[in-house]
Parts: sequence; structure tokens; C-alpha cells
Amino acid sequence: MHSVSGSTVQKRPFRTRFNPALEDIRMSPIVSISEEARTRAREFEKSGEKFMFFQRGEIDFPTPAFIVEAAKRGLDRGLTKYPKSGGEDFFKEAVVARLRADQGIDDLEPAHVVASFGGQESLELAFKLFTRGAGFSPAWSGALENFVPFAQIDFEEVPLNRDFSVDFDRVERAIENRDFFYLNNPHNPTGKVFTEEELLRIVDICTRNGVFVIADEAYEKIVYDGRTHYSLSRVRQDNVITAFTFSKTYAMTGWRVGYAVTRHAHIAKLLRLGNYTQTAGVTTFLQYAAAEALNNVEESRRAIAAMVAEFQHRRDALYDGLKDLPGVVVDRPAGAFYMFPNFTDVIPRRLAGEERNHYVYQLLMAQGVATVFGSCFGHHFTDNIRISFSATPVAVIHDACERFHRVFRNAPR
Ligand code: PMP
Repeated sequence: MHSVSGSTVQKRPFRTRFNPALEDIRMSPIVSISEEARTRAREFEKSGEKFMFFQRGEIDFPTPAFIVEAAKRGLDRGLTKYPKSGGEDFFKEAVVARLRADQGIDDLEPAHVVASFGGQESLELAFKLFTRGAGFSPAWSGALENFVPFAQIDFEEVPLNRDFSVDFDRVERAIENRDFFYLNNPHNPTGKVFTEEELLRIVDICTRNGVFVIADEAYEKIVYDGRTHYSLSRVRQDNVITAFTFSKTYAMTGWRVGYAVTRHAHIAKLLRLGNYTQTAGVTTFLQYAAAEALNNVEESRRAIAAMVAEFQHRRDALYDGLKDLPGVVVDRPAGAFYMFPNFTDVIPRRLAGEERNHYVYQLLMAQGVATVFGSCFGHHFTDNIRISFSATPVAVIHDACERFHRVFRNAPR
């Protein structure tokens, strides 16, 4: 019993079933892993040993100064008003110009571009267009934990082969009765860069079956060994939606700026409406700074090249350090900043379920190395772990590799 305005009312328990779109979202285990890592780090520091963080896709580079300065200029110029629905013209024009220069695309127009809060919002809105989807497993955890439940998608995981190659027949079978295929390239968590041939074959399968492609190109510029990125925004078809972000390319994870590109006029309109409904558009002075990142080709090339060169050193240090671990299968990532080794031959055969899923992760955590267990990335690669090298200098990677060897040299089988 409690009192409202002096009168006494009987309070009934709520019978509301909250909207499953929100109730079904899972908090990423990567967040709880990070919390556990911080707690362990404090213990480790007491014993004088360093704790090593390899679990998150955060970047240890600052946002390049020319972009920060542009944000300040944007504020000084009074870019503080309500944004234009779908993005400011200067922003969309910068996107079109950059895709023309980098990808040789000459048919895109500003109307094909929708500004969003990070790649996250573009993807979330794209998933919300549909109800039935498929995509490769392993997959970025955010897609599985957030977009699938939030959009209430019936989602089928299509496993990559053990060497991360594509089984096209499986793709073909999986997309029957599906609305879209989610295709992330460069790929989180494997570091795979799909070849142009693989990408176009997947698009072709989707097109023949009347299925849309949601291309997630968050790591477009993070490719190694002189590779170039083949963007699916090149495909002149209206069944492709491509999501981009400034987070990784320009070390702007906290700015939350990204964009979607689609030639499908109605989809572009729906994305604009969705964006307007959620956030009423992307902060104008941030769009101004992001446009500067795209327009200032010389400065951005320099910044990206320096960052990618460092990531490549780290990739090499990690790969060289782990490739001879007995029983462990390590693939050299061609892009993004993750490695996804397999430990099937190291994990005791009798282990199953969560005990098995967390086995490698726990052994490493006990040695002060935080990683992410494979079950965060879907049902099919649960004997793998993801190691992120986005925020760890080479010296730390060398130390970490020694710890891996210490752990797995004597691991019980
Ligand atoms: N796609 C993938 C594969 C990612 O790993 C991420 C971020 N970790 C995103 C999209 C979204 O990035 P943001 O929202 O920061 O742009």
C-alpha cells in the first residue's frame, strides 16, 4: 500500500512483458571479460607482473590532430543546430568523392548516403529492415548479440570452413527463404580479407535468390601486405547496403560517426527515417570533422599508413610468436586487428559445454592475458579464441607470446 495525493491505492505488480526487441539483447561477454581483466590486473600489479589486455577492439592511437582541429572549427562556425535528415550535404558529398577516388565508383550520389551514429547505427537500421537473415560464423559478436535480437531477426549462422574459406553451397542453401546475408569484410574475429572473387560470388548467389547483402566494411582501410580493399559499394545493384565507420580507420571510436551507402532509394529513405526516429541525425560539428577526414586526402593517408604499419608489426610479432605453438592452428590475419587461433588439439577431449568454451581463455587469464572465447562469435568456432592487437605494442606482444608458450607447452591433453 502506498499513498498518492493523500489517498491510499492498492499497488498491483506489473504484468507487462517488456518488448522482446529490448529484453532479448545480451550484454556482450566482452564487457564482462574486460571487467574481470581489470580486477585481475590489480592482483597482478601487486605481484609485480604486468597484465595484458588483448580482449577489446579499442585502438591505442589518438584521433589525428587535423580531425580534432576540424571539430573545433565546426563548433566555432556554429555547426551546433539540428542536423539535416540523413546527413549534411557536405558530409554526403565528401563520402561520394572519397568512394570515387578510392574505389573508382562514379555513379554514387549524395542521396545514396545516410549518415549514422557509428557503423553500429547503420548496421542496426539495416538489420531492422528485415526479419530473416544469414551470415558467416564466426561473426562479430555485436551483430549476434545486439542487432539480431533488437531487430527480432531469425538468423542462420553459416560456418566458414576450418581454414576460413567459404563453402558456397552452404551459402546458397542457407539463403533460401532469407531476406539478407550479412557479410563483414575485413572480418572480425578472423582477420580474413575476402577476395574479390569470393565477394562477388556471394553477391551473385544473393542476387540470383532475391536476397539483400548487408556489407559491413568497418575495417576497410586496415589491410596488410599492400592489399587494397574491394568495397561492395562498387556493385551497381540495389540489393547491396554497405556500412562504413570512422571508428577504426581514423581512430575515432568514441566519436560515433559512420554512414550507410545504398542505391536502393526506398531503403535509403527508410534508413533516414530510422535514423531520424532514433537520434534525429548525427551531431553536425562531428559530421564536419568527419568530412574533413575524408576530404583531406594527404593527411588522412599519412595517418592511416602510420597506424596500419604499426598494426602490421604487431600482427607479425603475434603470428611469429604463436605459429609454432604445438597443437595450435594459427592463421596470419590479412586485415582488421584480430587473430583467431584454434585450440582443438590442446583442449582436453573430455571437456564439453561452457567448461570447454572457457578453457583456453581461463588458462590465459590466469597468466595475465585477457582474450575473448570463441563462443562470443557464434556456435561454430568455440575452440578458438580472439586475440586483439589493436592496443598492445610489440614489446607487450612478445611478452604475451612467452606466456602462451608457458601455458600450452605443459597443457594437459
Ligand atoms: N562492424 C564490426 C565488424 C565491428 O567490429 C565494429 C566495432 N567493433 C563495428 C561494425 C561498429 O563500429 P562503430 O559502431 O564503432 O562504428
